[in-house]
Amino acid sequence: MKIEHLGIAVSNLEQSIKAFSDLLGTSPYKTEVVESEGVKTVFFQVGDSKIELLEATHEQSAIAKFISKRGEGLHHVAFAVDHIESEMERLKSEGYTLINESPKEGADQKLICFIHPKSTGGILIELCQDRP
Ligand code: ZN
Repeated sequence: MKIEHLGIAVSNLEQSIKAFSDLLGTSPYKTEVVESEGVKTVFFQVGDSKIELLEATHEQSAIAKFISKRGEGLHHVAFAVDHIESEMERLKSEGYTLINESPKEGADQKLICFIHPKSTGGILIELCQDRP
């Protein structure tokens, strides 16, 4: 496994794009709206990993709820896996709570699954596999 990306919830995407462009000395390589999740995402490449900025597209979005509860900041850590379904099976059998029961389509050409933070020390974990 490696850290595929860190997901950061932001309330003002334009401002955060500027901040991370300044920090990293590079522009985002991709902007994508994931309608089903109610988010607009922006990706920066950082070595082998990425930073994903997430802004809510509507009030019912999980990102809007996260920010109103906890404020802006680290939202999830994403690990790259080769076989997402077998990883999901394995973690489920070890008692972890999966938020989605089958892999779903995420941003950046990935199949993804979220693991509930209550079983991972308060951090939302995302598993992701490149979409075939
Ligand atoms: Zn993510």
